[in-house]
Amino acid sequence: MQDKLQALREEALTKINEADDLKALEAVRVGYLGKKGPITEVLRGMGKLSAEERPVVGELANTVRAAITEALEAKKQVFEEEALNEQLKAEAIDVTLPGRPVTLGGPHLLTSIVTEIEDLFIGMGFEVKEGPEVETDYYNFEALNLPKDHPARDMQDSFYVTEELLMRTHTSPVQARTMGEYKGNKPVKMICPGKVYRRDTDDATHSHQFTQVEGLYVDKNVRMSDLKGVLNQFAKQFFGEEREIRLRPSFFPFTEPSVEMDISCKVCHGKGCSVCKQTGWIEILGGGMVHPDVLKMAGYDPEIYSGFAFGMGPERIAMLKYGVDDIRHFYTNDQRFLAQYHQA
Ligand SMILES: [Zn+2]
Repeated sequence: MQDKLQALREEALTKINEADDLKALEAVRVGYLGKKGPITEVLRGMGKLSAEERPVVGELANTVRAAITEALEAKKQVFEEEALNEQLKAEAIDVTLPGRPVTLGGPHLLTSIVTEIEDLFIGMGFEVKEGPEVETDYYNFEALNLPKDHPARDMQDSFYVTEELLMRTHTSPVQARTMGEYKGNKPVKMICPGKVYRRDTDDATHSHQFTQVEGLYVDKNVRMSDLKGVLNQFAKQFFGEEREIRLRPSFFPFTEPSVEMDISCKVCHGKGCSVCKQTGWIEILGGGMVHPDVLKMAGYDPEIYSGFAFGMGPERIAMLKYGVDDIRHFYTNDQRFLAQYHQA
């Protein structure tokens, strides 16, 4: 019986040594140490042994079992280490590979233009105001001297949300709201940039949604010459010191008198070329002295207060400044176009 145990040990240790994966190792363990294995069988047959033999065989059986268990554990550890090493090798990061470049974004060209305009006017003491894009009929039209039956409403076909609510057709309602907020006894010096909406068919120069920056200055003794001075400053800082401006008479329901401002052509300096359609001038924006009715409606006494207002389209300004030939470029989000204007 002792010989049999010794032989089992040798056999098992050889098989453990020969095992080439965890599965084979487990088969050896079940085969020799399992409930139906030969060592268990030996231990079960101990009852038949004499009282002297029993402790000797018992001790040997335990030693053999311990030896096999130890050998199994040792081999198992080798396999586990190998597996870990292989995993580490497979998951290794090659730090010498070149990285993927990170492309930096930048503000949209229109955002940059609006920010530039804001900075310029803030420098002249204007504050920046914002208002809702879904506006009431009252603020969008009536408060700006455009009663319900006014023919000028046809000039601005609008997107109505309900009878009384619409997508604002200009940022002027922000001016009306601010004057209302100041209750007719405080000067107003503001610009209001923002999106506006009109029922236009989109083409190279029209879009159903575009951007506006409007300005308003209401105080005692505000004159036409103040408007001209502010606009001249704007034109020179934005387009260059050498540019000249001129004001032409025009018509807007909320200003009287109304003007349109041109700047001298950058290409021909006023001599006439194809860019300026041979006129030597390029139209930039509209403005005028705030209509007394608009002041009155906002609670300002037109006998005491006067003011000027102007409005410009950042799209048009960007198109002129950078030679962009189609307004739709601003909205189609083609990175090839937009990335040209990202400043480092
Ligand atoms: Zn020209």
